[in-house]
Amino acid sequence: MAKLHLITYGCQMNEYDSERVAGLLQERDYELTDDAAAADVILLNTCAIREKAEEKVFSKLGELKRLKADRPGLVIGVMGCMAQLQTKTVFRRAPQVDLVFGSPAIARVGELVERARREGRPVLETGEAPLVKITSKPPDANRLKAFVTVMEGCEKHCTFCVVPRTRGRERSHPPAAVVAEVESLVAEGCREVTLLGQTVNAYGRDLTPATDLAELFERVNDVDGLARIRFTTSNPYNLTPKLIRAMRDVSKVCEWFHLPLQSGSDRILERMNRGYTRAQYLDLVAALRDAEPAMAFSTDIIVGFPGETEADFEATVEMIERVGYDNVFVFRYSRRPGTPAAEMPDQVPEVVKADRNGRLLQVVQRVTASRSRLLAGRTMEVLVDGTSRKSPGELSGRTRCNRVVNFDGQGRVGIGDIVHVRVTEALPHSLRGALETPEEAVCSSK
Ligand code: SAM
Repeated sequence: MAKLHLITYGCQMNEYDSERVAGLLQERDYELTDDAAAADVILLNTCAIREKAEEKVFSKLGELKRLKADRPGLVIGVMGCMAQLQTKTVFRRAPQVDLVFGSPAIARVGELVERARREGRPVLETGEAPLVKITSKPPDANRLKAFVTVMEGCEKHCTFCVVPRTRGRERSHPPAAVVAEVESLVAEGCREVTLLGQTVNAYGRDLTPATDLAELFERVNDVDGLARIRFTTSNPYNLTPKLIRAMRDVSKVCEWFHLPLQSGSDRILERMNRGYTRAQYLDLVAALRDAEPAMAFSTDIIVGFPGETEADFEATVEMIERVGYDNVFVFRYSRRPGTPAAEMPDQVPEVVKADRNGRLLQVVQRVTASRSRLLAGRTMEVLVDGTSRKSPGELSGRTRCNRVVNFDGQGRVGIGDIVHVRVTEALPHSLRGALETPEEAVCSSK
């Protein structure tokens, strides 16, 4: 059997794509290895969202050069967003690369790898291709939680972002294909799915007949044995009252919403071309909390976007405090070639970005800790998904609002169970709890 070493950078969609690649190559008698030195094929699934992500890939390719020198038969491939965007640069900076292909070509990975092995000269495949639902099973298919990509692409054209160029136009998988995938995951033991798309709440607009994420929730909710549905990433611009109602009414949809804000300043939101104002965003949060008071929010923030002043930054700080997020991902603005923001004249110096990044993280820590404290004393539904990292004698799981809870299972419950746990202590990054009643497998608490 040939050996495949797969390295994944970036978002959940990349993780999902890597699993499909592993599944497709397994069908061609490749087995996964953790050891790059033992591999016949090494694939890097890349991310182009920030410069740092790209630099990590080039530095890894530098390391791999030595392996290639020792074993010229080794095939090194670069796939995913960076492959799509930086094809020439990849071959120029890393001539040891044999194969470059974008996400539309993933379904043909087997054929591409064989070509690269056979021909001994660079193989390049970065064109458009029809969207296909890959049905190969990843090697470790029996998982409790799984990602399911429901759509590709993005048409929002935020001025900072490369995604519309790396992943193309919005294209949705038909609901039946998504449901079939969820059913097959559940048959293998999966209890929670996360429906993925770059703008997942734009799902279905391109299909005939058109549909939407709320309707998809209903269909996925009907899959017997599935306990939880999550979804990411949403754009506030496409957030409809229908979707808000579905989040309240569809029982398996969890009370957790990742809703990227990016900035709390209207001036910056407009320059980012986000399509909403802070007041509109706050209205959405209020409507969601009205529909579901237990809703937890997480978000993405970019600090140091071109033209961001101290007052704009303060407006972001104020929004974080006002919304009361459960989790915030803070990014320093990264100038991406070919995007409108990269050409804006008033770029913010790196030291200022670093300073705002540090200050914002302190605010985030304070806000998320105070949200955690609100959970102390409450009894919450937990899907047990492993053992505690700090004390392996204890079990660990996630609440529907996506908090990690560690607790003593008292030998009565195990991984895969859904139990009720009373939160006894709110720590900075997790909760501690005590087992209440071990439940039969309940599907929802709504
Ligand atoms: N579709 C999502 C949205 O609503 O914008 C974004 C998905 S993107 C893969 C994840 C996050 O990366 C974004 O929300 C944004 O905060 C961050 N990001 C994207 N481009 C960036 C850039 N040029 N510099 C810094 N952060 C960036």
